[in-house]
Amino acid sequence: MSQTVSHGLYIVATPIGNLEDITLRALNILKKADAVVCEDSRVTKNLLGHFGITAKLYTYHEHNAEAMRPKLIGLLESGQILALVSDAGTPLISDPGYKLVRAVAQKNIPVVPIPGASALLAGLIVSGLPSDRFFFQGFLPVQVGKKKKILESLRTLEATVIFYETPKKFRKTAEVLLEVLGDREAAVGRELTKHFEETIRGKISELMSYYEDTSKLKGEMVLIVDGNRTPETLDEKALDHLIQEYLKERSVKDTVELILSLYPDLQRKKVYDRALTLK
Ligand code: SAM
Repeated sequence: MSQTVSHGLYIVATPIGNLEDITLRALNILKKADAVVCEDSRVTKNLLGHFGITAKLYTYHEHNAEAMRPKLIGLLESGQILALVSDAGTPLISDPGYKLVRAVAQKNIPVVPIPGASALLAGLIVSGLPSDRFFFQGFLPVQVGKKKKILESLRTLEATVIFYETPKKFRKTAEVLLEVLGDREAAVGRELTKHFEETIRGKISELMSYYEDTSKLKGEMVLIVDGNRTPETLDEKALDHLIQEYLKERSVKDTVELILSLYPDLQRKKVYDRALTLK
């Protein structure tokens, strides 16, 4: 039975791939809304078309948000029902919307969640990593220095960390993750809910080996990394693996220093000898 819908801003989650993940409430709101506020009208038109819904569309994105906000608030004040959607998943999650929500709430206009799919939870729940405490980082900055700074602030966090990433940038990000956080357990969820869905679990260095060549890798991925719970020491196989990964881009000396900074209980001579052998 579909609910009656009263005026306000509805934050409507849409699928992250599989269209069957739309909820009944989402469809009801999208049908009844006076307008749907979206990021890219082509994407939203396709989605609505699939469900036989025609709606007036307004776009709201990074470049027009300042100008659109007062207009949308005006429509809400006149009693309209607006549905905010993003291109995929839950609006506001690495997508625009929070300033609109804040501005609408400040006017005492109802803001109503219509929850549904989000890549961060889809990835977390199949990662096999602890889900009791987690931290959503979303996209890291592209510049290595800025990436490192953020990761250093997360180094001691005892919570699983979730990142959004594109296949193209995966390797660079994984290299920095390995360098700053060490070779933690991790998982990649790629193309979740879609035809070519895959979830790969393993140490960061193992994921890097799996995705050695990302030049032809397509789609969308979420990267989930264990929190600061890894043991302070490494077994021999894991040590060799880590040395081999670090040696790809570093001297023996830098490799040894980096490993000792992450695992201070290891013997310097042992790490140095293994690095020389493996070089
Ligand atoms: N609002 C969306 C949500 O709720 O998940 C996220 C939007 S953000 C701009 C897009 C990023 O989400 C992608 O680069 C990717 O990291 C992640 N993502 C979206 N769909 C995904 C999927 N089907 N599988 C894996 N990751 C996905």
